[in-house]
Amino acid sequence: MNHVPGGVTGSAPVEFELPPEHRLLRDAIRDFLAREVEPVVAAHERERRFPGEIVRRIGELGWLGIPYPEDEGGAGMDTLAYAVAIEEIARTWGSLALIVAAHTSLGCGPLHIAGTPEQKAQFLVPMASGRVLGAYGLTEPGAGSDAGATRTTARLEDGAWVIDGGKRFITNAGRAGTYVVAARTGSRPDGSAEVSAFVVPADAPGFTVGRLEDKMGLHASATGELHFDGCRIPAGNLLGEQGNGFPLFLQVLDGGRISIASMALGLAQAALDAATSYARERRQFGRPIGSFQGVAFMVADMATELAAARLLVHRAAWLKDRGRSYRLEAAQAKLFASEVASRATNAAVQIHGGYGYVEEYRVERYLRDAKLTEIGEGTSQIQRLVIAREILGLRVV
Ligand SMILES: Cc1cc2nc3c(=O)[nH]c(=O)nc-3n(C[C@H](O)[C@H](O)[C@H](O)COP(=O)(O)OP(=O)(O)OC[C@H]3O[C@@H](n4cnc5c(N)ncnc54)[C@H](O)[C@@H]3O)c2cc1C
Repeated sequence: MNHVPGGVTGSAPVEFELPPEHRLLRDAIRDFLAREVEPVVAAHERERRFPGEIVRRIGELGWLGIPYPEDEGGAGMDTLAYAVAIEEIARTWGSLALIVAAHTSLGCGPLHIAGTPEQKAQFLVPMASGRVLGAYGLTEPGAGSDAGATRTTARLEDGAWVIDGGKRFITNAGRAGTYVVAARTGSRPDGSAEVSAFVVPADAPGFTVGRLEDKMGLHASATGELHFDGCRIPAGNLLGEQGNGFPLFLQVLDGGRISIASMALGLAQAALDAATSYARERRQFGRPIGSFQGVAFMVADMATELAAARLLVHRAAWLKDRGRSYRLEAAQAKLFASEVASRATNAAVQIHGGYGYVEEYRVERYLRDAKLTEIGEGTSQIQRLVIAREILGLRVV
């Protein structure tokens, strides 16, 4: 059956098979990962080493701007292609998937949505064409789920924006050439923060990268602090209208959630692949452990939940690609896929027994990496809030 977007329930599209160009992209990425990436994953993770050379190669191959138009430096494909790419990368290496997802959705996304033609030419084209890595600074020590509690400030002074404050947990910190950051530019009449978005080049005076985190997983990705100490950027680096930063960031996160959900799919698929072959090969009591219902049913559940999660992710991408509203569907996809990934990777460790608990068999890495998908770009609790608000039309807190 070919690409069938015919709805089964109301507006819900169903993608039974990827279109040919998406399959070609997936196969090209799979081939590249098998040849150039897979052999070096374990060493990078062990040494917590950022894969700078591999990221550069991915940029050359045109995979750092998959969903953006060619005149913005991108590959001119769609969100579905991007989701397929992130899933495929995560199946081999969670850290690399996070690096690419943060760059593409969060670094490039705000510039694609709100950039002027000049800003796109100066910042987006180098990023989407893979020459410059991007990052996105929203989270602060006191502003996580409550992103509106931003303390970082920006003020206009002698024709330049001056930024003071700091960010925490920023993916690609120290590796990015361009940072999109949120800062308070004033207060609204009700006392809430007026938040605006800014483009900060890595070499802006007064900008430094602080400590990098020692994380539970995703060891080869860089997560760190950003410091702004009287950081001066040109007045033209305000992104969108002054005060429109918050709706812009929410829009960016809606799209970003599809990529984190795709990363969850890749990790769950890797866990299922590993569990399946191990359950066939490992013998106890004279037979393959996969022939015990207790093990076989774990595999059955993993495969079934993964298939359902993939449909949710592809539905959200399908809606986004058609310019339809997708906030609810992206949150559902992210919530479900991330929880599926945690369950599937946990089951894969269980199926491997003691061998699952040691590094040699990789499944322990999948479990550690999958946990992030329940936290980044809005925790599972925040996804449930978004979903409930969209359905009930009430201010659920
Ligand atoms: C590896 C990694 C990479 C990251 N990359 C980036 C990045 O590139 N850019 C960026 O800006 N940020 C990034 N983050 C930050 C991430 O988005 C935040 O950690 C996340 O949004 C949660 O914020 P917090 O950690 O402050 O937790 P908190 O908001 O303090 O939440 C703590 C707990 O309280 C719950 N909670 C909070 N509010 C509510 C509520 N209203 N209702 C119910 N429960 C609630 C949460 O669900 C959670 O369980 C990254 C984080 C990590 C770990």
